[in-house]
Amino acid sequence: MDKELLKIENLTIGFPTKSGIHTVVDHVNLEVGKGEIVGIVGESGSGKSMTSLAVMGLLSEEAQVSEGSIQLNGQELLGMSREERRKIQGKNMSMIFQEPMTSLNPVMKIGTQVGESLKLHTDLDKEAIRGRVIEALASVGLRNPELLVDQYPHEISGGMRQRVMIAMAIINHPDLIIADEPTTALDVTVQAQILNLLKKIHRDTGSSILFISHDLNVIKEVCQKVVVMYKGVIVERGDAKEVLKHPKHEYTRKLVASMPDQVRKSQNTKKLLEVQDLNVYYKENKKLFSSKDKRKHIIHGMSFDLYEGEILGVVGESGCGKSTLAKTIVGLNREYDGKLEMDHLKPQMVFQDPFSSLNPARKIGWILEEPLKLKGIKDKKQRKELVNQMLTEIGLDPSFANRYARELSGGQRQRISIGLSLMRGEKLIIADEPVSALDVTVQSQILRLLLKLHDEKNLTYMFISHDLNVVHHMCHRVIVMYLGRIVEMADVDELYDHPCHPYTRMLFDSILTDEEKETTDSITVNEILPETVDGDGGCPFYGRCRYAGENCLSEVPTLTDIGTPGHPHLVRCERIAYGEKYTAAD
Ligand code: SF4
Repeated sequence: MDKELLKIENLTIGFPTKSGIHTVVDHVNLEVGKGEIVGIVGESGSGKSMTSLAVMGLLSEEAQVSEGSIQLNGQELLGMSREERRKIQGKNMSMIFQEPMTSLNPVMKIGTQVGESLKLHTDLDKEAIRGRVIEALASVGLRNPELLVDQYPHEISGGMRQRVMIAMAIINHPDLIIADEPTTALDVTVQAQILNLLKKIHRDTGSSILFISHDLNVIKEVCQKVVVMYKGVIVERGDAKEVLKHPKHEYTRKLVASMPDQVRKSQNTKKLLEVQDLNVYYKENKKLFSSKDKRKHIIHGMSFDLYEGEILGVVGESGCGKSTLAKTIVGLNREYDGKLEMDHLKPQMVFQDPFSSLNPARKIGWILEEPLKLKGIKDKKQRKELVNQMLTEIGLDPSFANRYARELSGGQRQRISIGLSLMRGEKLIIADEPVSALDVTVQSQILRLLLKLHDEKNLTYMFISHDLNVVHHMCHRVIVMYLGRIVEMADVDELYDHPCHPYTRMLFDSILTDEEKETTDSITVNEILPETVDGDGGCPFYGRCRYAGENCLSEVPTLTDIGTPGHPHLVRCERIAYGEKYTAAD
């Protein structure tokens, strides 16, 4: 190992409970060398964040460190006074949190917050600090840093806020940066930009990074070494790629196996849903003295079919209209024109956050019985039996009927939400990011449950997700959406083997590892993406496309079929329409 920077020995942390001390970090030993990136991976409750908070001295008052030592550059951190800590934080080490909105002060200007540690640790005057802040904001890829310094966190996007947090963390060139799930709350492309940025900072400054994540792909992408934590204990450690390729511990194996590369096929040709030239609008608040409602055009002329038994994936960044599409199909949005036909079906929806769709004042049994009452089943005993049967089908004990939603874990709540969508016997389920809020192992359990129910009950899913790995695992066919339009649609194998639209390829590139990028004809995500443009005057992707030419601005490109008979592969791109191919040399 390179010269040791951070050394954690026998770290043990617990919380007092009625029945004694509950240990959450148990004799953890960990080293980070100078210039190294070490990942800690594990699900929530594994102790990974507690370990990083202990290093930063940010443990809550109740937490008790009963044993161990944490040394930075040979200096013991445990037992330091607040004053001694302040001298180190921001100067020798800094932290990037998962949710910048909660860690940035909402009433303080961005410039003041980013410059805070310079004020504390240097003799620079106000002007010099402002200059350094502008430099730091520019170095993390933020445009117009001179204007940004005078803005507040709520005035900028989530991706920009995360860049501000990173600027804050690096402004004093710390030896160690602790990044705690820094990309978990972000879109897939923004995630890739932030990871690229962290790697660039590591290359340019030589800072060491302790990288905490539940996402194995992210760990593989960024870290040289990894430790795997489970229930407060390190169960495996080693070279990141090696550990993830040949996991030894049972838990690591379970983590790695939680996303098997399973591709599924559907042969059915019975149409359950027909969407033709669908335009969806969002009604904006009527202006004072104006007689007209203002409508924002969200979805532009979408056409596709969904076949019985099929799992159709819809991918795209937030704001692409995928959730609006889902809500329109289930009848939660009536501002649309075009054809939306559903063969006498009442599609049911499974949401990302099941908590909001489960009545907190009612027991699970009551919630699951509701659709049966609406269906006209009057016999209480029969309803109870059907509820028990559904609980068993979704992998829960019938005793869950007597619990409240707040007493359940995220995964259990999502099981209930899936069960609820099936209580009336409906066959078409629209699942909107159903696993994005869950831990990786729970994610895989819910995905398996969805596949099991799909097979057993011959269900049809529209599966909306920003996670390309999950979509690959689940779906037969995939729609890629960009700013309210389909930009590519094909069978899952075809799309993942031959992504054609520059936007699709950019999405895929954001999940490739460095190694794969070297051997793939791929498009690198720009460090700084231009703002999206409204596509009414030309290709909606024009502002972000490195292949854009003059032709692309004349009109919105139409969908061209480049597939084979029976296997359409639709792409909305001028250059594809003219038979051009993109190459790495482009
Ligand atoms: S039409 Fe032009 S701008 Fe749009 S994706 Fe194709 S090459 Fe890029």
